[in-house]
Amino acid sequence: MKELCVLCHKIHEAFNWKYGEYETVEGLRWGWFCDKWYKPSHPEFVPQRIKDDRNKYAKSIMQPYRQGVASQEYIDTYGTKRINPKDVKKAKKVWTTDVLKNGWERSI
Ligand SMILES: [Zn+2]
Repeated sequence: MKELCVLCHKIHEAFNWKYGEYETVEGLRWGWFCDKWYKPSHPEFVPQRIKDDRNKYAKSIMQPYRQGVASQEYIDTYGTKRINPKDVKKAKKVWTTDVLKNGWERSI
């Protein structure tokens, strides 16, 4: 079945679709998303390739700062190169709360 996947941001083919709430930077929305983005009832059936894709995507959209707060996740992944040294100590987990929830949190 082909659907517009709100989390992949494109129309694509998938075996399983779920209509549900998903989180965006603007708040909660409803829409269809594919099985890459929701926790399947049998997590052991999620192929490693999909987990890798999900984490790759999560990391690729991660920025060093969010609303002026340094990202602890960014530092954990990439180091402090793009972070002002005075912000490193104040770094918080600013991304795991919403946009990256689907992939990132479970990968740590
Ligand atoms: Zn999708």
